Amino acid sequence: MLPVQEARRRLLAGLTPLTERERVPLAAALGRVLAAPVTAEVDSPAFANSSMDGFAVRAEDIAAASPDAPTALSVVGDAPAGQMPQAAVGPGTTVRIMTGAPLPQGADTVVPVELTDVRDRSAGASLPQRVAIQRALAAGAYVRGRGEDFAAGQAVLPAGRRLRPQEIGLLAMLGRAQVEVFRQPRLAVLATGDELVAVEQPLAAGMIHDSNSHTLAALAISCGAEVTRLGIAPDDADAIRARLDEAAAGGADLILTSAGVSVGSYDYVRKVLETDGELDFWRVNMRPGKPLAFGRYRGVPLVGLPGNPASTFVGFEVFLRPALHHLSGERGWTRPTLRAALAETVESDGRESYLRAQLRVGEDGRLEALLAGHQGSGNLYGLAQADALIVLPAGVQSLPAGSMVDAWPLL
Ligand code: AMP
Ligand code: MG
Repeated sequence: MLPVQEARRRLLAGLTPLTERERVPLAAALGRVLAAPVTAEVDSPAFANSSMDGFAVRAEDIAAASPDAPTALSVVGDAPAGQMPQAAVGPGTTVRIMTGAPLPQGADTVVPVELTDVRDRSAGASLPQRVAIQRALAAGAYVRGRGEDFAAGQAVLPAGRRLRPQEIGLLAMLGRAQVEVFRQPRLAVLATGDELVAVEQPLAAGMIHDSNSHTLAALAISCGAEVTRLGIAPDDADAIRARLDEAAAGGADLILTSAGVSVGSYDYVRKVLETDGELDFWRVNMRPGKPLAFGRYRGVPLVGLPGNPASTFVGFEVFLRPALHHLSGERGWTRPTLRAALAETVESDGRESYLRAQLRVGEDGRLEALLAGHQGSGNLYGLAQADALIVLPAGVQSLPAGSMVDAWPLL
């Protein structure tokens, strides 16, 4: 049995990150991976502007202002957002300014309307002739300086960055309506098993619905893959071969199968891999999910996940999430991991164990992990109740309450 880390290392070493690029509209770029760095062409902000609704002033003019002795200024213009201000600010004068409006010539500071005697702060309020400033402010107060966020020529996003909503917004800010990204990994998913019935079909006695292919497809989509569903193959070497041929011919970058990798008399996936492809490993020192195969079929990397629904899920999290990040050309991905104190004593059998857990903040303010639902590898309900997997290292039979463990949040 391979240690988990070694199995993951071999899997990742067997996958070459994609390099083919495509241009996609920004609206379709969420979750995609940038194929080229993005450099700002302009400063941001592109012009100094106000961060508040108020009055643009010269700081030196209001240096003596206080609530008891306000400084009166005459209002010489209005600066709404979206245009360059007409009026300039000179000694003893001010221009009313709105948030986001360019700072008028001559002004270096903005006094928020709250620090003035202006009472009418409603939309459409007319321009006052005079305003009393009630506080002195340092020069530059409430002004967003040109280039304070980033400067022209600055590399703001590296190649290999997966685009989250904040990167999408940043690209829009930069005026990029199209984005150069790597193509998505093409992943084919096959369920195997004589007992399986497609979710659309009624069940006969002794049969079960195929849930794994749906779990796996959903997980793969959440990692940015494009999924081809190969349906269900019976426990039959020829039938499995036919579906795998279809996946290879369809240009899959990676094939995932469920079930048939153990030592049962009907476990044909591993056999097909041995006779028609290459089998690298098929047993990993983990729980759940010991029978997990990796190899190649017609040159296409194939991961044979165990059939038990919780094992399939855990197998994906442990191996395929990092594998898909790697394959998609993303750089620098690391799994978000928390440290939590066990709220109860937890037993295992010495394999590296992934337990379904719920996280909560304990009375002492520490993060705590409680086991969630039934831990049996066939039981999916516990996973639906869990918000994390907690990891017990290999070699551990029992960990007392209070022990610190790694917790992988399930998003
Ligand atoms: P196997 O790997 O074929 O020994 O299957 C292990 C367990 O997983 C058995 O209880 C199967 O019925 C179950 N199983 C296999 N494939 C699926 C699937 N696609 N969806 C749900 N359960 C499955
Ligand atoms: Mg089976």
